[in-house]
Amino acid sequence: MSESPDVPPVRASRWSDRQSRDALQVIAEGVAEVAGFDLVGISAVRDDGYLQTLVIVGPEEARKRLIDSLAPVAPLLEQLEQADDWGALKFVPHDRMILDIDTWGWTSDAPREHLAPGAWHPDDMLVAPLEAADGTLLGILGIELPRDGMVPGPAQRQTLAMYARQACRAVITTLERERLAEQVRLAGAAADIVRHAVGTRSANEVLAECGPAISQGFRAESLWVQRLGADRRCDGPLYVDGAPTVRLPSGLGALVAAQAPRAWERQCVAVIAPERPLPGFLGGDQHAEVISFLAGLDIESLLFIPVGAGHECFGALGLTRAPGGAEWSEEEAAAALAIGRDLGRAVANARVLEREHQLLDELRDIADYKGRLLATVSHELKNPLSAILGYAEILAAEPGLSDAARACAAAIERGGGRLARVVDDLLLLHEPTETRAARARPVDLGQAVAEVVELNGAVAGGRRLTLRADLPGVPVLALAEPRDVDHVVTNLVGNALKYTPEGGTIVVGVERIGEEAVLRCTDDGIGIAEEEQAHLFEEFFRSTDPVAVAQPGTGLGLAIVRRVVERHGGRIEVDSALGRGSTFRVFLPAG
Ligand code: ADP
Repeated sequence: MSESPDVPPVRASRWSDRQSRDALQVIAEGVAEVAGFDLVGISAVRDDGYLQTLVIVGPEEARKRLIDSLAPVAPLLEQLEQADDWGALKFVPHDRMILDIDTWGWTSDAPREHLAPGAWHPDDMLVAPLEAADGTLLGILGIELPRDGMVPGPAQRQTLAMYARQACRAVITTLERERLAEQVRLAGAAADIVRHAVGTRSANEVLAECGPAISQGFRAESLWVQRLGADRRCDGPLYVDGAPTVRLPSGLGALVAAQAPRAWERQCVAVIAPERPLPGFLGGDQHAEVISFLAGLDIESLLFIPVGAGHECFGALGLTRAPGGAEWSEEEAAAALAIGRDLGRAVANARVLEREHQLLDELRDIADYKGRLLATVSHELKNPLSAILGYAEILAAEPGLSDAARACAAAIERGGGRLARVVDDLLLLHEPTETRAARARPVDLGQAVAEVVELNGAVAGGRRLTLRADLPGVPVLALAEPRDVDHVVTNLVGNALKYTPEGGTIVVGVERIGEEAVLRCTDDGIGIAEEEQAHLFEEFFRSTDPVAVAQPGTGLGLAIVRRVVERHGGRIEVDSALGRGSTFRVFLPAG
């Protein structure tokens, strides 16, 4: 927060809006002409406790000296306690004047001695306080140098009071307009920040993207951004928008690193300028060091804004203004703090995004590695396996083999056969997409189903399962590779047989729905728990259900089915309830 000053700030023009001043000028001119005064001025109270003279109607010399001059409000209020109360007007006769007239008004060379009774004394003061509905002092209308040389009488006072009321309304309207303009400008800056920051992927990008919007929004000469690293030291160079590269001396870098988190913790911003009181966190020496550093860059004031989110401070922003630039207002200080928060949130989001992307890259690396590993291992297994199977076959065919030896050869063949299937699955799983899709052609799904059902009839019968095909009278063609279709049907039927207890029923059907050929495999077996359904198609996923685990399997079957189906531009869905059975549906482009 900008602290209330003990030292008058340098001349500043906050009332930059020409329109506002023009409205007040008209009123001041009216007072001067109709009520007959040679000097009329209107001042407004600023947030920093000073009155700023906005318009002066009167001698050129007075205008030059008084326009935009500043005077503290507190002594004026004290002085007005001593004034004669003329309703809307307050009159302080010269003998009760305690204010320094040089700061407070315009003293003419008119004679001070031997004045007639009722004559205006050059040190008299006549003002109309301009107050808001709640009594807050918004400004004053000051009136001096009556043309008739007399203190105003009752009729003149009435006219003056009427003008005072008008001036009051005008000041209120203008103040409102100034505030609104300020809010609109700052809201615009904040909106720009959010617009720029959304979607930026790194904290650096956020800062670089938002820089120009912030400096423009705040009418700052330049914007500095200093990031803090994880070690809470200044991280990287100072980012600067609107000024040549700036190098922070190491002492100042350490100061920023130490003070930004404190300012963030207290949620305050600070104005650092030569005639401003020291911000609480700076020692006298440090203040002087900062000021001389700024002066070297032709900067007069700096608004220091911490940037953070939650308990974490990410760094600080500095908005600078050149000598003669406007004072930092309360609205600006409050908006700057809000921008420190907005920006902090944007940086925090960007960090999360950065972390996510990093993780994704790592995951991709792991997936690549797994793919390469599986492909290598399965190729390396394939050759020795073929040899084992081949020799086992030769051995089994050897005449005169003992029964025990023959049983051993058969076991080797069975085990080797299973291993060979796993290796084939692994190879299939990692086959590049293009090879398969290229071989797609119209395949009769119904025929594929009929063949698989027939082939598995014996197995089903042995386990007292009903396995049947439910086929329409017409062929249902899918655009796919015949071997793949066979693989998919075999796999789904194989699973249904494995995971359906004795006495159960398995129905495999096909149909055409729109542009898709649909294969459906329904069983009334053990079913799949809802929380496991999302993982079914992942490689090596096996259910935790003890009944399912008891069946032999690798957890590769469905992963391969999905891969194969997707290679052909299709998809697979499951509909299952634990203990009630499952339906798998495969959708392929119709042929
Ligand atoms: P595997 O059958 O070799 O374990 P899959 O990838 O074919 O591997 O299946 C993964 C898991 O999905 C199985 O372990 C099983 O728990 C479950 N599952 C697959 N099909 C069915 C089904 N028809 N009924 C119940 N559970 C099934």
